[in-house]
Parts: sequence; structure tokens; C-alpha cells
Amino acid sequence: MEFKNVVELNHPLITHKLGLLRKKGTGTKEFRELANEIGTFLCYKAMEDVELDEVEIETPICTMKTGKLNEDKFVFLPILRAGMGILDGVINVIPNAKVGHIGMYRDDANGHKPVNYFFKVPKNIDQKEVIILDPMLATGGSACDAIEALKEKGVKKMRFLCVIAAPEGLKRVTEAHPDVKIYCAHIDEKLNENAYIVPGLGDAGDRIYGTK
Ligand code: URA
Repeated sequence: MEFKNVVELNHPLITHKLGLLRKKGTGTKEFRELANEIGTFLCYKAMEDVELDEVEIETPICTMKTGKLNEDKFVFLPILRAGMGILDGVINVIPNAKVGHIGMYRDDANGHKPVNYFFKVPKNIDQKEVIILDPMLATGGSACDAIEALKEKGVKKMRFLCVIAAPEGLKRVTEAHPDVKIYCAHIDEKLNENAYIVPGLGDAGDRIYGTK
């Protein structure tokens, strides 16, 4: 299935690392490292169209004009708790970006609906470009809620980074928010009856924090 405004990383090293991440025998330490590494790749890809300021610098040889990223313009927004699992990886790419947090959990007793319990973002969020982080884009419910909460705060430019996306979630988010570009390492097959991604990697939060 083709989705507009969705970029799937297509690189043998990502496939390799994603295979290791998915394997059920992969332990907490390795899982965290791999998730962050993939986060770094996703962030590089997502910044492909970013505009740079032109600055003049001096090399040991001569002066030259080059591009400089205004890091202060960017805010990472991990969706708690699994989004924290790729935060270090993206911070490697833009170390001076600000970080906001949005807390959501899936209410499995109520149709897996996302429940928003925390929202804290930097000042002047309406002037920033926000990069939302969630390793698993499953039903798209939390993604839509996060995007809507940010739009209500006046945010105009958003990107969404995830490791694995389900076609059902991509359909929902791209239809509701065609202005938000989504970057994922892989689009998987489907959701199962418990709204887990198939083949997926299980519960990303549990695997990052070792809670199961
Ligand atoms: N959240 C996860 O952590 N895993 C899934 O497969 C779906 C949602």
C-alpha cells in the first residue's frame, strides 16, 4: 500500500538492525541500543528537507560559506513511555533541540483508546518545528491525539518518527493530518486483534524498560 507523505527507510543496515530489534531473544541493553541507533537514522532522514542559515566560517586554510542548523527551532516530543526509547538517538543528531513530553497509555479495557495524562512542552512551541517520537505507530490513535494537541497550541510544522508502522495507523494519521510527514524504518503487515503490530516486535515499552 502506498501512503502519501510517508517515508520508509530503505537501507540494508536498517533491515539488519531491525531484525535484531524484533528478535524475541534480544535483551534490554541491546534493544535500547538498537532502538536509539535506528532513531538516529530516522532523524537524519527526517531532516533531509531542513533549511539552513548561511554562515561564514574560517577553516585552517581560508574562509568559506557554509550551512548552519538553527537547533533552537526544534523540539523533540516523545510520546511516553516508549517514545523515550529513541530520544537519545535523535538528540545525537540535534543536541541543542528542546524536549517536550506527552503522556499517553492505551486503555485496553476500552477499545485500546489512547488516554492523555500528561502534556508539557517548551515555551513558544507555536514558533517551533516539532518532531514527535513513538517507536510503534499502531492504530494511529495516540499519534492523532498528539498531533491534535500540538495543533491546538499553534504548532504549524510537525514530523512523526517511528520505528515500525502498521498500515491501519498510517491510513488514519495520513488521512486526518496530511500535513504531517511520517518517517518509519519499516511498514509492517497489519494489526492483530489486540492492536499489536504483526510481525512487529511486541510491546516496545516493555522491551525498552524490561517491565515484562
Ligand atoms: N505498541 C507497541 O509497543 N507494540 C505494538 O505492536 C503496538 C503498539
